[in-house]
Amino acid sequence: MQLPDGMKLIDENGKRMDGRGPNDLRPVKMDVGVLKRADGSAYVEWGLNKVLAAVYGPRELHPKHLQQSDRGVVHARYNMAPFSVSDRKRPGPDRRSVEISKIVSEAFTHVVFVEQFPRTTVDVYVEVLQASAGTRCAGIVAASLALADAGVPIRGLVSSCAVGRIAGQVVLDLGKEEDNYGEADMPVAILSTTGEVLLLQMDGIMTQDQFRQAFGIVKEACAHLTEMQREALKKKYKPTQQEVAA
Ligand code: ADP
Repeated sequence: MQLPDGMKLIDENGKRMDGRGPNDLRPVKMDVGVLKRADGSAYVEWGLNKVLAAVYGPRELHPKHLQQSDRGVVHARYNMAPFSVSDRKRPGPDRRSVEISKIVSEAFTHVVFVEQFPRTTVDVYVEVLQASAGTRCAGIVAASLALADAGVPIRGLVSSCAVGRIAGQVVLDLGKEEDNYGEADMPVAILSTTGEVLLLQMDGIMTQDQFRQAFGIVKEACAHLTEMQREALKKKYKPTQQEVAA
């Protein structure tokens, strides 16, 4: 997309529009166990993104003909609220949300020990309340926390972040304008325990050197996000001051 007149994605001091350096994340906040009725849940604020994840299961899958006799299935649904974007979004699934739901299901099918739960489903709901680029990454981070909170056996926490290219330069965690007017956007998700890449999508263009540089930066960011996820999980189980005093 053509950059509007006067807009500079990187200024003369190397700062991005929101003042970040090339390798900086937007501010991220994570809370675990925020919904009473879900088996597991999490809320993530990431820049202007606000995302809620809820997990149910493993529970018997209905209708029965969808059951797998040797393993469980992970079913994810990514949904954007009508008020999550600047122009009201038509409620319900669209091509984009169906695609994101599919990639999230596939990523977490590898993460959950599905072989331990034949004939069951683990349902993962990602609800985007406010969107400002990077919602699939925020959704994956929240879903991973919600799975851990639900006590579903998993191979490890999953962290996710985008990296891309704006004004010819590789930068981490693209904001909305950077996503719109930049040259490349590449969301990545990594399984913390094995380093396996569970998701890698890219639109736009990067040189091979830039791709290698981008992958290095996003890998580090994912490791940092995993630390934050661990802290968020610990925070939930930390006794309150009253509990300590009792
Ligand atoms: P991601 O949110 O994972 O970066 P995209 O690159 O597809 O996914 O979308 C980038 C951003 O574009 C979203 O975060 C959101 O802010 C905006 N967006 C996506 N879908 C819509 C829509 N239907 N209407 C308006 N804005 C949208």
